[in-house]
Amino acid sequence: MAKIENYNFNGKKAIVRVDFNVPLDENGNITDDTRIRGALPTLKKILADGGALILMSHMGKPKGKVNEKLSLAQIRDAVAKALGTDVKFAPDCAKAQEAAAELKPGEVLLLENLRFYPEEEGKPVGIDKNDPAYEDAKKAMKESQKEFAKTLASYADVYVNDAFGTAHRRHASTAVIADYFDKQDKMLGYLMEKEVKAVDNILKDIQRPFTAIMGGSKVSTKIGIIENLMDKVDNLILCGGMTFTFAKANGGEIGNSIVENDKLDLARHIIDLAKEKGVNLVLATDCVAADDFSNDANTQVVPVGKIPEGWEGLDAGPDSIIAFREAILPAKTILWNGPAGVFEFDNFAKGSKAIADAIVEATDNGAFSLVGGGDSVACVNKFGLADSVSYVSTGGGALLEAIEGKTLPGVAAVAE
Ligand code: AMP
Repeated sequence: MAKIENYNFNGKKAIVRVDFNVPLDENGNITDDTRIRGALPTLKKILADGGALILMSHMGKPKGKVNEKLSLAQIRDAVAKALGTDVKFAPDCAKAQEAAAELKPGEVLLLENLRFYPEEEGKPVGIDKNDPAYEDAKKAMKESQKEFAKTLASYADVYVNDAFGTAHRRHASTAVIADYFDKQDKMLGYLMEKEVKAVDNILKDIQRPFTAIMGGSKVSTKIGIIENLMDKVDNLILCGGMTFTFAKANGGEIGNSIVENDKLDLARHIIDLAKEKGVNLVLATDCVAADDFSNDANTQVVPVGKIPEGWEGLDAGPDSIIAFREAILPAKTILWNGPAGVFEFDNFAKGSKAIADAIVEATDNGAFSLVGGGDSVACVNKFGLADSVSYVSTGGGALLEAIEGKTLPGVAAVAE
């Protein structure tokens, strides 16, 4: 596979798939520019070499239609500021031939939201999956997706994929486009390289003990990872909302706590699997229960299986926090995905904060710690600890699929 570090972009036009799907407020102002900053090392290397940049990204879910609220024109100035240079804008990503042809070394062109075209995602629109004509529509869409990808490829000499957030999708700009470049002219960007390396650290080059902490609301969305991790981890902490599915599966009373009643068998299966594999499964034993789903609710600490009627568990309790710390502190490899409580409410963020603190301590003692997947990233950011762990992944679904052991199409496409 070509390596960005060794590539000389001098005089070349590089089309770079970035993840500029940044959150905007109602006035179109960026509320968190992490993703733009994440792409800078790649973009700066290309410009410093004397290359020209064509930037492409999606924003939100316009479902194949133009939607001004999701226009990348809104972030043009922020990108220009971050790069320290002017950014030209192509208002139609599939009709940017001229703008691309005119680009000179050192210049930057930002294409409009790729997902204004259904071809980007390659799913037929306006036809139900059960419609007999669906399969034909799907085939036709795959063909037009190729054409769309070919058009994007025609703008540039070299393709760089630096959008880890969409690496688990086989979209026109993330994977299909790579077919139109020679092997030596397609590669991962620095951010993607770092992400892939971080996943390798926890799936391949494991230093022991390995502690994984899986939290969040539901066990159903994490089951693929939990199963894959069972063969790898020494300690597995399961916390957050899924605690109560386990507590109920164990015959407990969980009041109004969040629960997946159709996953009780799955919870029992996970407990058995941990025993079979010799994994130390750490489940919360107590919780902070609230009489309302609000920051100002009344609270009491109760065992997870003895929650009174009308109360719901919203955070890990003190005994659970001690057990979590014990499993985290000696670890040499740590993965954290999903909060231990409703951390968005300050009064129910203690469990998540305790986990974050223990991870930071273990990291100071030489552990490799990877935090990733949406809410846990928001968590470490909320606590101001993002710089105190080894790596914070920018990928949500992509990270989770990589940890499940799946090959990411966005990575595979440039390696082929
Ligand atoms: P996920 O997207 O599955 O990682 O879940 C993250 C969400 O789970 C966060 O918004 C948390 O507020 C929520 N969560 C964590 N613990 C609980 C709980 N005990 N009850 C309800 N929601 C929770």
